Amino acid sequence: MSKDLKITPISEWGWNFQTPLIMTGPCSVESEEQVRETAKQLSNYRFDILRGGIWKPRTRPNSFEGIGSIGLKWLKDAGNEIGKPVATEVANVKHVYEALRMGIDVLWIGARTTVNPFAVQEICDALQGVDIPVLVKNPINPDLELWIGAFERLNRSGITKLAAIHRGFSTHEKSKYRNIPRWNIPIELKRRYPQLPIVCDPSHICGTREYLREVAQTALDIGFEGLHLESHINPDKALSDAKQQITPEAFGEMMLQLHTRESIEHNPVAENQLEILRGKIDNLDNYLLEMMSERMDIVREIAEYKRENNLAIVQPSRWTEILENRLETGKRKQLTEKFIKELFHAMHKESIHHQTEVMLLNGENSEVEKKS
Ligand code: PEP
Ligand code: MN
Repeated sequence: MSKDLKITPISEWGWNFQTPLIMTGPCSVESEEQVRETAKQLSNYRFDILRGGIWKPRTRPNSFEGIGSIGLKWLKDAGNEIGKPVATEVANVKHVYEALRMGIDVLWIGARTTVNPFAVQEICDALQGVDIPVLVKNPINPDLELWIGAFERLNRSGITKLAAIHRGFSTHEKSKYRNIPRWNIPIELKRRYPQLPIVCDPSHICGTREYLREVAQTALDIGFEGLHLESHINPDKALSDAKQQITPEAFGEMMLQLHTRESIEHNPVAENQLEILRGKIDNLDNYLLEMMSERMDIVREIAEYKRENNLAIVQPSRWTEILENRLETGKRKQLTEKFIKELFHAMHKESIHHQTEVMLLNGENSEVEKKS
């Protein structure tokens, strides 16, 4: 059983943050002018934290590896000018010390750092006793325990202003995403730690501007507590992640188009209505399970018959007939082919398991009968 995490809610982090918590700003701080102008244009829209990468983890050397420590002051000044807290990524002790020294308000741990418990521990040791919000991006590989481990380590250093950033998972599968979202992983994190806020990062999930809004909306529909979007005054000329960055204006437009969903926690009417519908689902689920169990009873009767008449368990023609017929019925009932196939394959597997059990059991019984 997992340990509980101690989490300070976003509303108590200290800047009157609202949910959804919105972080935006350039992938990389490139110049004093670029970050100041981006911040100025962004300040026409609602957002909470100005982000900017100072040290960039690049896959290969010789690409832009970040402007380095000098950019911390530019970022902090740009935030001060518009009255917003600023955030940057830290990957080692030096980054932590320099960011803290320059008064960076919020830190995040990048996806390539979360994968490495040594690096995460080193950052946690440097943060011992510092009261600063830390956001942790998911590790690039879909390993929920590793992600949770980083929160536990931060908690042990006394950091409780924590949030997760869901930025998708690296994959070799062909996909329209740069990093596949695998929503089930952050959802499982939410199920296990409902108090831990999750911020979705559509920019690094998508890798292009095309699906940003769709992914951001999905995150809000699921009930994530924030969004992280990269913005740049001149995205096409950006020194890193050019394809996924959007102008402050496009950011503002996207924010207007997104529908935020209310949490039902403080809404007794919605809670009541949902309670009724959930009650119906519970009844239907119980009914489904009863029907399944009845179906398996009949399967066992069939197994007895097959055994007595020396028939094989699997009769391929019958199985094909079932599948075709159920697919046809499913289609009429608006159920996808994929779902029907998965459902009936699972039932078929369970049914073979029951039939083999009956055959074995009766085989043993008849042995006993023979002996007695
Ligand atoms: C970033 O936020 O710019 C970044 C490097 O992200 P990630 O760690 O998700 O790749
Ligand atoms: Mn980036």
